[in-house]
Amino acid sequence: MEKIHVLVWSELTEPKDIYPNGINGAIASYLSKFSDLKVKTSQFPDPEQGLSRDLLQWCDVLIWFGHAKHKDVSDENVERIVERVWDGMGFIPLHSSHLSRPLISLLGRTCRIGSWDEDGMPEKLYVIEDHPITEGVENFILPHTETYGEPFDVPPPESILFISIFHDGTIFKSGVTWRRKKGRIFYFRPGHETYPIFYEEKVLEIIRRGVYWASFSL
Ligand code: ZN
Repeated sequence: MEKIHVLVWSELTEPKDIYPNGINGAIASYLSKFSDLKVKTSQFPDPEQGLSRDLLQWCDVLIWFGHAKHKDVSDENVERIVERVWDGMGFIPLHSSHLSRPLISLLGRTCRIGSWDEDGMPEKLYVIEDHPITEGVENFILPHTETYGEPFDVPPPESILFISIFHDGTIFKSGVTWRRKKGRIFYFRPGHETYPIFYEEKVLEIIRRGVYWASFSL
């Protein structure tokens, strides 16, 4: 069987004491356990910002973590990613990557959110739709997280898979999919670089399911 090629990219500003190998390293170390996935990592400090033409051509699904360096990603790389998605590459932006330039460019909206608070309070994720990404996934709680609030300025999704409810009743559509030309996009909200959320098996498993779903081009 042909393996799915997964590139896990990070801008690598996450704290070393929590993510010594980066958020991309944490995710890659989980995904690498699955024999049908071939996983590589790259990061902003690499040559060509870790997004060379060869690497993007190799890649079937690109997982993305950005937070502080969105604006530093080059126009050329944003265009390459958008074109690869149009051509069938899956794209999975995580958490603060709602403001990543490739996602904004693909969706054509600001992708801004209504509110946020690094309060470290719990988040309850409700599964909203039966979907290959949510199959076998139960509602679950992340004990310490960042609160995100609506409105999330994005175009109408193909599916809303998860809704989060936070301690104060704030809600957010936490797992959302779109298709753009031949490519599939899955935005997944849990994260924040100061909480160890990308070691949570439930979160990693949903990302893995997202990889399989996003690997199918239209
Ligand atoms: Zn955050």
